[in-house]
Amino acid sequence: MNKVAFITGATRGIGKQIAITFAREGYDIAINYRKENEELENAKREIEENNVKCLTVQGDVSNFEDCERCVYEIIKEYGKIDVLVNNAGITKDTLLMRMKKEDFESVIDINLVGTFNVTKNVISHMMKARSGRIINISSVVGVSGNAGQTNYSASKAGIIGFTKSLAKEVGSRGILVNAVAPGFIETQMTDVLKDEIKEEIAKSIPVKRMGVAQDVANVVKFLASDDSSYITGQVINVDGGMLM
Ligand code: NAP
Repeated sequence: MNKVAFITGATRGIGKQIAITFAREGYDIAINYRKENEELENAKREIEENNVKCLTVQGDVSNFEDCERCVYEIIKEYGKIDVLVNNAGITKDTLLMRMKKEDFESVIDINLVGTFNVTKNVISHMMKARSGRIINISSVVGVSGNAGQTNYSASKAGIIGFTKSLAKEVGSRGILVNAVAPGFIETQMTDVLKDEIKEEIAKSIPVKRMGVAQDVANVVKFLASDDSSYITGQVINVDGGMLM
């Protein structure tokens, strides 16, 4: 029986690459989506090209009932979830002076409360199985802070606290919980930046390039593997040395 990985926000970008990477390893995959579109179809097709199953479940991570239903549907189909990757996330960048309350709340609701909503519904299944891996996608700015990202940095710092606390709660049950903190990764999220800014950022990174989604997926794969069985409660930066 194949292992099962549930990756949120996997219709594109980092999440999609994580899902494809797990599919290459022979995992059956579950991904969620908010609206059916071409991106979702492409992601499903690219995952299934690896001869594994890909279940797609409709649900917004910021909605608890949606998450409850998504997890129910995954368990109904596969009977278990071995690996959960909380990857869904958004940015709404602006200086605090200009930030609307809704911009702060929506980023916290999706990035941080979303991580709670999904994990809360998955954890009882992992507890019963006495095994599981949870990998939360944070960000280097959750550690360092970043002007224009008070909402996003707070959500990503919150994910780190959540990760460490949960790791302490469930370690004795065979469940390992870690966070990955990417630096600047080339996806639609960072595509909004002007080319000059991207070049400046790349220059400031010790390895002199922005990361690609596969750089993050490789570390997530490691954290789900038997090779990382003595690692929990950690934050692994994948940032070309940006933060050290
Ligand atoms: P992306 O290309 O914008 O993809 C984000 C994904 O999350 C999409 O599949 C999106 O689906 C989904 N999503 C957003 N809100 C959702 C919601 N409420 N419910 C369910 N799904 C939702 O972003 P990315 O760059 O791949 O980022 C992935 C993760 O890495 C995020 O948590 C981000 O904060 C983190 N990260 C990224 C970078 C970077 O440089 N790119 C750096 C550090 C951390 P829809 O089609 O529904 O919008």
